[in-house]
Amino acid sequence: MDENELRQLAEEARRRLAELIPDEHERRQADGELAHALNEPPGSAKPALMEALRSHEGIRRWVAADTDRIVGQLGDLTEPIGVLYVCPQKNYTVVREIPPDGELLCPKDGSVLERYTS
Ligand SMILES: [Zn+2]
Repeated sequence: MDENELRQLAEEARRRLAELIPDEHERRQADGELAHALNEPPGSAKPALMEALRSHEGIRRWVAADTDRIVGQLGDLTEPIGVLYVCPQKNYTVVREIPPDGELLCPKDGSVLERYTS
């Protein structure tokens, strides 16, 4: 995922912040980080953008909710944002920061979620 794509993702995240982060204080903080990252000069904004997109669980979940998006992005991440689990039926994904004790089940069809590896 290149810098322009990250910018678009960050801009879209800002537009959706009200739904992504219910808490007003946390939302303002995340908005500030996204705005700051978007103001970085072109060509050197990538680390700040990735940091801002990882800054809040609500944003991370939103990024992870779209399998295609995260699959495109994973190759570029220098460190994991958590482990992504994918339903084999491709209708559900979830990110876990801490490995679950047992198997994770898809809430839609009950399939055992598979750990995503790039
Ligand atoms: Zn499923």
